[in-house]
Amino acid sequence: PKSGQLILEACEVTRRFGGLVANNNMSLQVHAGEIVALIGPNGAGKSTMFNQLSAVDTPSDGEVKFLGQSLKGKTSREVASMGMSRTFQHVKLLPTMSVLENVAIGAHLRGNKGVLSSALHMEREEEQRLLKEAAYQLERVGLGEYLHEEAGSLALGQQRILEIARALCSDPCLLLLDEPAAGLRYLEKQALGDLLRKLRSEGMAILLVEHDMDFVMGLVDRIVVMEFGEKIAEGLPVEIQTNPRVLEAYLGG
Ligand code: ADP
Ligand code: MG
Repeated sequence: PKSGQLILEACEVTRRFGGLVANNNMSLQVHAGEIVALIGPNGAGKSTMFNQLSAVDTPSDGEVKFLGQSLKGKTSREVASMGMSRTFQHVKLLPTMSVLENVAIGAHLRGNKGVLSSALHMEREEEQRLLKEAAYQLERVGLGEYLHEEAGSLALGQQRILEIARALCSDPCLLLLDEPAAGLRYLEKQALGDLLRKLRSEGMAILLVEHDMDFVMGLVDRIVVMEFGEKIAEGLPVEIQTNPRVLEAYLGG
C-alpha cells in the first residue's frame, strides 16, 4: 500500500456479551505509514476491539474492512495471510530453542496451511526458506547477533522484539501490538520505539494498545481513547493529553 492509504477500517462495530456491551458503535481507521494508539482504562474494551479487528472474534453489529475487503466470514488465519500480523500481551516463546528457531516456527505457524498438516509435512526446502526469512527479519529488527542464543536467555525487551520479528515474517502491511512496552526498562522502551519508528518509515501501519503514556505520547501519530466500550476521544497526542474528557476517564475513576 502507498503511504497514507487507508488500510484498516472499523465501521460502527458493536460487540455484546449477553447484556454487556464491550464495544459500542466503534469506528476507527489506520493508514499506511502511521502509528495509532488505542488507549483507555482497564475494561474499556480495547482487547475486544483488537479481536474484532483481527477476526479472532466477530462483531454483533457493524463490520471491519482490511485493504478494502470486509472481514465478514473470514478466519483470523485468512486475515493474517492478507497482511495483518498480531502480537499478544504475553510473550509466547519456546525458551530453550534458539532465537532463530523461535522466529522460523512462528513464521511457519502463520503460513496459509493448517497448523497440524503443515507441521507434519514440513519439507526440508520449506524449512530452509523459513530459516532464511527468520534470519532476515531478525537482522532487520537488530537481533542479528543473537540468532543462536536460547530465546529464554534474552532480556524481556529483546523477547518483545523477537515477537515483532516473528510477526514480520508473513510480510504484513499492518501490525497490531498488544502492550508492547509493558514491563520494559527505560532503554528497552527506547529501543522498541526506535524499531517501530523505523518500520513506520518503511510504510508499515501500526496499531497498538498501550498503557505507558510517556511511550505513547513520544511515538504515535494519533490516539483513539475508549471508555466503557465507546470511543470518547480521538486526535493528536497533544490534543489527547489536554482533553478534559480523557483526563476525567483516567483520573475521575
Ligand atoms: P480492555 O482490554 O480494555 O481492558 P476488554 O476488551 O478485555 O477490556 O473487556 C471489556 C469488557 O468486556 C470487560 O467488561 C470484560 O469483562 C468483557 N469481556 C471481554 N471478553 C468477554 C467474553 N468473552 N465474554 C464476556 N465478557 C467479556
Ligand atoms: Mg486488555
